[in-house]
Parts: sequence; C-alpha cells; structure tokens
Amino acid sequence: MNIVLLGAPGAGKGTQAARLVEEFGIAHISTGDILRAAVKAGTPLGLEAKSYMDAGELVPDSVVIGLVKDRLGEPDAQNGFILDGFPRTSVQAVALDSELSSLGRELDAAVAINVDPEAIVARLTSRRTCRVCGYIGSVKDETCPKCGGEMYQRDDDNETTVRNRLDVYAKATAPLIDYYRGCDLLVEIDGSLPVDEVYASVKSALSI
Ligand code: AMP
Repeated sequence: MNIVLLGAPGAGKGTQAARLVEEFGIAHISTGDILRAAVKAGTPLGLEAKSYMDAGELVPDSVVIGLVKDRLGEPDAQNGFILDGFPRTSVQAVALDSELSSLGRELDAAVAINVDPEAIVARLTSRRTCRVCGYIGSVKDETCPKCGGEMYQRDDDNETTVRNRLDVYAKATAPLIDYYRGCDLLVEIDGSLPVDEVYASVKSALSI
C-alpha cells in the first residue's frame, strides 16, 4: 500500500497516518516530522529549514525531495508507505512520480482530507503535540494520554502562521488535487467528522 495523504495543515493527515501505520505496519513518511527532528538536533538541514517553517513557508523543493528519496530507500518503506505532507508542490509531485518509477513502484491512491479553513484555524491554534511520542492532542490534554509525555504547542501553530500556511496550501498544494484526479488516483474524504469516522471513510475509500 503506497499512499499520499493530501489536505491542508490541520486537516488530520498526521492523525490518520498514525492510525494506518498502527494497523497496517507501513512506513509513515512525514516531511514535517523529519524537518522538526532536524531543527531539534540543530543539523545543517534543520538550520536551513527553521526560518521557512517558523514563517509557515515551504522549505525549498530540492531539500525536501532529497529527504523523501533517501527515506523511500530505507528498509521499512519497502512494504508500503504513507507520505504525509509530501508532495506539497507540483515540482515535488513530478519528482515523486519519477523516483517511484525508477524504483519500479507506484502509488495506489492519493487521499485528500477536506476541512473548512476556519475550522482548521480553530483546530490548529488549540492543537498540542507530545514531545515524546508525537501524539496529536488538544489544549485539553495536560499530559500525553498515550505515553504521559509533555504536551507542547508547535511554533507554527499560532494564528498568524496558521493563516499563512493555509494561504501557501491554497496556492501551492491544492492544485495537486486536480493533478491526482487526472492520474485517477484521487479519493476525497470529509475530514470535519470525528477522527474514528474519518478513519472508517479512509479505509472504505481504500478498500482495506
Ligand atoms: P507539517 O508538519 O506537514 O505541517 O509541516 C510543517 C512545516 O514543514 C511546513 O509548514 C513547511 O515549512 C515544512 N514542510 C513540511 N513538508 C514540506 C514539503 N513537502 N515541502 C516544503 N516544506 C515542507
């Protein structure tokens, strides 16, 4: 199962990806998580990416494409993967197609999770993430309900940055919905429903 998850920031891609990974044991490739880990570790990649991320802008295509190519080569990605937050531009989508075809692999589906932008602003500004296991919760979670770790607010989950991320999504990423529709890979899901219902729709749309 090789899947791309599309949707605005805060649409629920990370949450749905975590469920799929837990149930089907495939690799979760989140470019946002990879970049945040690099920022935390203070690597040259992290130093380069941080200013873009803090402003809600996209990290340059060449950087992100290189990360994904490397990640697709790792052992755990050989039995299937979920790309979460990649591709985000048409250059990235074309690079992904070309990398997969050179690996003799192909996408099974592009799942677009749709949520109204104003609902996303409310969701993201109250989102809290576990520092230890990455669990995605809300301001109501004082500690992580999964592992007891500390919950924190991501630097880019403030309202100004969230609105910029939504603008960037509308301009650079939303056109990929038509791209994948044209490839006959698109499935669209209503992401405004409770998490369990969204997950049931994702599985039913993928016939899994
Ligand atoms: P996310 O966790 O997916 O919301 O990503 C957080 C931030 O990381 C984004 O706002 C971008 O700055 C950067 N980022 C993640 N994925 C990509 C990508 N595919 N292309 C460019 N920038 C990305």
